[in-house]
Amino acid sequence: MENEQLSNSTIFPLGDKVQANFTGDAYLKMVFTDPEPLNTAIGNVTFAPGARNNWHAHQVGQVLLVTGGKGWYQEEGKAARLLLTGDVINIPPNVKHWHGATKDSWFVHLAMTPGATEWFEAVDDEWFDQL
Ligand code: MN
Repeated sequence: MENEQLSNSTIFPLGDKVQANFTGDAYLKMVFTDPEPLNTAIGNVTFAPGARNNWHAHQVGQVLLVTGGKGWYQEEGKAARLLLTGDVINIPPNVKHWHGATKDSWFVHLAMTPGATEWFEAVDDEWFDQL
């Protein structure tokens, strides 16, 4: 999908293309950063169809607020969960997981992340294609 269409479909700005730890085309705009006292960053993440982030874990956890499209959230060892607009996902600390768009839909979420993120391997095509 064209960037303009993606940008028009989301509440917050599209931002810049993500260069690392993702497969496919994804865009990030940090909409809030406040080290003190909240210690939380909020990013608007827009995924083109089929785009997803690598397996990763958040030291303090993460909250995803879905603002558009259709996506997947999967914790290691569990079935992938389909995400739709309005879904709120609470990701516990140190749980290995990934999130991204479905094969045929763009996907937009806000990600609220206090603390650091540890990145692991990519979600390979063979795995993703089984969803
Ligand atoms: Mn995450």
